[in-house]
Amino acid sequence: MNEFELIARYFQRPTPRALLGVGDDCALLAPRPGMALAVSVDMLVEGRHFFADVDPESLGHKALAVNLSDLAAMGAQPAWCTLALALPRTDEAWLGAFARGFYALADAAGIELVGGDTTRGPLTISIQVAGEVPIGQPLLRSGACAGDEIWVSGELGAAAVAVMARNGELVLNPETLRLCGERLDWPTPRLALGRRLRGLASAALDLSDGLVGDLGHICARSACAAVIAWERVPVHPALAGLPEVVLRQAALAGGDDYELCFTAPVAHHARVVALAQELGLQLSCIGRIEAGEGVTVAGANGDEIALSRTGFDHFAS
Ligand code: ADP
Ligand code: MG
Repeated sequence: MNEFELIARYFQRPTPRALLGVGDDCALLAPRPGMALAVSVDMLVEGRHFFADVDPESLGHKALAVNLSDLAAMGAQPAWCTLALALPRTDEAWLGAFARGFYALADAAGIELVGGDTTRGPLTISIQVAGEVPIGQPLLRSGACAGDEIWVSGELGAAAVAVMARNGELVLNPETLRLCGERLDWPTPRLALGRRLRGLASAALDLSDGLVGDLGHICARSACAAVIAWERVPVHPALAGLPEVVLRQAALAGGDDYELCFTAPVAHHARVVALAQELGLQLSCIGRIEAGEGVTVAGANGDEIALSRTGFDHFAS
């Protein structure tokens, strides 16, 4: 199987929303009138972002999911993507499973694969996504104001605990390991939530590197401080029974949850609660934006909780 047969077999499907999809020098795309294109790219490298023996179907899902999560965090509707793949060899079983995971999520999210690049090399996956968001309505990191409430979707910490377990830092019972592994390998991009937060949230981002570190980006871009109440942080129930220090590290500073963190004016509180009901998705109010800078986590007695690491940084020494 040569390069072009590989593309035709695994990555060429109809793309009705594009003017032109896979097969020419470029794809041709036209956003609808009044829409801005939200564009983002992420790269996943074997050994750094995923384990060498990871299930290729979950890898196809996750490589797309982490990008869709960025679109969700902007309030954008997924439209088109491109896929750059470096493969050590052409393993048909691997490619078939990867494409299955990729397309199952692509179809569910309504995103079309319109191009890419395929080369031989150490296993690396880079996906670029483009989504549509009405001009003037994207969810930015820069809109938080003192007095706003801080919210987070879903439950945190399970993916980070799975990483700890797979790195041999933690021993889990088989059921906990399975639940946490599922959160790590099959993240759910919160696309419907992101779109519904347009006009409701003042700032938003997705949690890829850890709550405290990521919320710090909102604070920096919005020139404000954040105070989180630890007892209001929704820790994933699979973590029940683990030592408190592990819970804190995983839920506050662990990465890979791909939930949304957003701020909203207090006056929108009831609308956010109603939205959680409607979407069937837990939305937890975990704290408040204040004047100042940086993120503080308060324990039940009001004392500040110190973390040994606030988030993931590829270049931290
Ligand atoms: P070029 O040499 O002009 O960059 P390529 O030979 O790399 O073109 O690719 C041929 C066509 O196949 C292009 O339309 C490209 O976008 C598409 N393509 C290549 N790799 C992939 C992939 N992994 N997934 C989807 N489309 C791909
Ligand atoms: Mg090319």
